[in-house]
Amino acid sequence: MKKILAFVLAIAMIASVAALSACSKKDDTKKTEETKADTNVDIAKGETAAVETQALEFEDDGVLTMATNAYFPPYEFYDGDTIVGIDAEIGKAIADKLGMEFKIEDIEFDAIITGVQSGKFDMGMAGMTVTEERLQSVDFSDSYATGIQSIIVPEGSPIKSIDDILKPGASYKVGVQLATTGDIYISDDLGDEATSRVEEYQTGNDAVAALSAGKVDAVIIDNEPAKSYVAATSGLVILDTEYVTEDYAICFAKGNPLKDKVNTALNELIKDGTVKTIIDKYISAK
Ligand code: GLN
Repeated sequence: MKKILAFVLAIAMIASVAALSACSKKDDTKKTEETKADTNVDIAKGETAAVETQALEFEDDGVLTMATNAYFPPYEFYDGDTIVGIDAEIGKAIADKLGMEFKIEDIEFDAIITGVQSGKFDMGMAGMTVTEERLQSVDFSDSYATGIQSIIVPEGSPIKSIDDILKPGASYKVGVQLATTGDIYISDDLGDEATSRVEEYQTGNDAVAALSAGKVDAVIIDNEPAKSYVAATSGLVILDTEYVTEDYAICFAKGNPLKDKVNTALNELIKDGTVKTIIDKYISAK
């Protein structure tokens, strides 16, 4: 499916860059009144773009192209050369229901929203959390799964909960995957200290490797990938206390009518038990 007549693309891209920079830059997420005001300006730009992008037209070429970041097990990961996982299978089931071919593209997580906005991909499915800020840049489907931001530490770590990381005087360093909600929340909570205490990595795997190497004291990441990473790495544990609970959904360019078709297919797949079977195959039945 390709987007044509992209005459307002430039406006959408400018807004997406503004919204994304609000998402990913630590300095933009500090809890100061000044920064809140800045963020509001970005949101206002995003709303303008939302109106403008309604003018885009979408052409059905029979192929459903899903952008993901395939280093997020069990939602998406490589089995040999093939990308498998919960999102890969739900995406394929949706394409089948819509009578479309299915194609997955593996790109960096922080490029998914812009790629979807530009029409390069029909949808983004990457264990992606619905946030108010992202809703300024893209539309989301109904939610198909719940995510939890968890904290991974080395065995025997003095860090027992998020409070130990956030308490005054603490200097623990935290590793995150760039531009994920874990990055956004901890950068927001640490405020001015985020610049020196939050280390952003391109993948969760890189963040966990840095934890193993002692470069950071904790990693904040979604619970299911956390379990996979900890199972594959000795000497690490996940804290019992959760940081944040969130909803995963599929993102689309604003105004793309494909969203409604995908929602209809997704809800049928939820109702007939297909989504639960896929999730159980990778999570509950483990
Ligand atoms: N749920 C997190 C987010 O949406 C992380 C997703 C991911 O790393 N694939 O930011």
